[in-house]
Amino acid sequence: MLDKILIANRGEVALRIQRACRELGIKTVAVHSTADENQKHVFLADESVCIGPPESLKSYLNIPSIISAAEVTDSMAIHPGYGFLAENGDFAEQVEQSGYIFIGPKSATINLMGNKISAKEIVGEVGIQCIPGSDGELDDDIEKVHKLADEIGYPVLIKAASGGGGKGMRVAHTKGALQHTIDLTKTESKAAFGDDTIFMEKLLEEPRHIEFQVIADHHGNAVCLGDRDCSMQRNHQKIIEEAPAPKIPKKLREEMFKKCIDFCKHIDYRGAGTLEFLFENDEFYFIEMNTRLQVEHPVTEMITGIDIVKEQIKIAMGLPLSIKQEDIVEKGHAIECRINAEDPKTFMPSPGMIDLWHPPGGPGIRVDSHVYTGYEIPPYYDSMIAKVIAFANSRESAITRMGVALSEMIIEGIKTNRDLQIEIMQHNAFKEGGTNIHYLEKRLGL
Ligand code: ADP
Repeated sequence: MLDKILIANRGEVALRIQRACRELGIKTVAVHSTADENQKHVFLADESVCIGPPESLKSYLNIPSIISAAEVTDSMAIHPGYGFLAENGDFAEQVEQSGYIFIGPKSATINLMGNKISAKEIVGEVGIQCIPGSDGELDDDIEKVHKLADEIGYPVLIKAASGGGGKGMRVAHTKGALQHTIDLTKTESKAAFGDDTIFMEKLLEEPRHIEFQVIADHHGNAVCLGDRDCSMQRNHQKIIEEAPAPKIPKKLREEMFKKCIDFCKHIDYRGAGTLEFLFENDEFYFIEMNTRLQVEHPVTEMITGIDIVKEQIKIAMGLPLSIKQEDIVEKGHAIECRINAEDPKTFMPSPGMIDLWHPPGGPGIRVDSHVYTGYEIPPYYDSMIAKVIAFANSRESAITRMGVALSEMIIEGIKTNRDLQIEIMQHNAFKEGGTNIHYLEKRLGL
C-alpha cells in the first residue's frame, strides 16, 4: 500500500491527483516554486515543500530538488501529472533508482515512445498504420530528400523526433522551401528539445485528431477506454475535446481498440497512455503516443465512470486492473472546453489577479480548476486555468449544457477565451460533429 505520494506538478492537474489520493486515503506532498505558494493544492496537501524559484527549469524541472523533497517528506511514490517531467525518461529512472515508485511507465518505454521515429517504427509491428513519410530520420543528402518529398507529394511536414506541445513542426509547400524549412525545424528543435533529429511526413489536408485511451497493469492486462476527438485546435494545440469521437464507424473503432490493446501488450506497457491518430477518409494514421495522463482525460472518465488517476495509482501499487474490456460500458457524451487566461484576439497570455471567480455548476457539469477569487495567475507557466466538462445523455444535450455552463461562468480581472468557446458551441459545423483540425483556424481567419 502506498501511504504518501509526492505530486510533481502544479495547477489543476496537481489538484486532480491530490483528490484521487485523498479518496484513496493516501497522504499528499505538494511541491511548488516560490511563485506558487498560493496554489489550492498546496493549501490542501498534508505537507508541502518549496523546490525553487519561479522559472520551471529551477523548480518543476529540477530533478534533484524534487527527489530531495521526496526524501525529506518520506514519500513513497511520485506522480508527474502532465507536462514538465511527465515524459522525461531520465526523471522516471532517477525516481526509481532513488527508491521511489514512478507513477507511469518504465523509463525505457517513455524513451521509446518519446522519440516519434522509434514510436512509429514499433507501432508498425502490430499492424498500426503511420502517415506516409521518411521511414526514420531524414537523410542529410538533399537530393534524396527532394526525391522523397516528390514521392510523398507536397505539402510535406518536417517534424522533430523529440517534438511536443505543438512545437517542432513546419510545413514545406514547395521544393524551393524545403531546405529552409528543414534548417528552421532543426534549429528550433535543438533549442527546445536539445535534439535536432527530424523526419518527414505527408501533411494530411483534412484530418481529424482522434486518440485512444489505454490503461495497462504489471500483469500483462490492458484495456482501451475508448476514443476522444480533439480536432478543435489552434496552433496544433487542443482547445476542445470530446468522447466518444462522433461519426466513427463502429467496426473501425473496435478494430482500433484491439490494435491499441495489442500494442500495449506488445511493449509490456504499464500505466495510463494515449495513442494519437489522424483520421482521414476512414483511415487511422498513428502520430504519437503520450505515456502519461492527458489534459483531456476527464471526458473519458465521464462516459466510462472510470477514475483514470486512481487506476494509475493502483497500477503503480502493483495491483492488477480491476476492469476487463467487456466491463467497459460507454454512457452518454462528454465535452471539455479548456479555459485559458489569454487575450481573445491576440491569444497572448493574460496573467494577473482574478478579482472574481464564479465557476458554473448543475447537473452534468464538472469543473477542474485550481483558481479562486483573489488568486493571482503567475506569468511563468501554462495559461490554462480551468477545464469545464459537460456530460449528458447525447452529444446534442452536452453541447447545449456546455453553452449554458460557459455563459454563467464569471471570471473577472483577466482576459480569457470563454467567449470563443461559447461561440464554437453555436457553430453549425461543430454541432454536426466531425470538423477537421484546420476548422478553427480557418474560421478565425488565421
Ligand atoms: P505534438 O507532440 O507536438 O503534440 P503531434 O505529432 O501529436 O505533435 O501533432 C500535433 C498536431 O499537429 C496534430 O493533432 C495535428 O493537428 C497536427 N499534425 C501532426 N502531424 C500532422 C500531419 N502529418 N498532417 C497534418 N497535421 C498534422
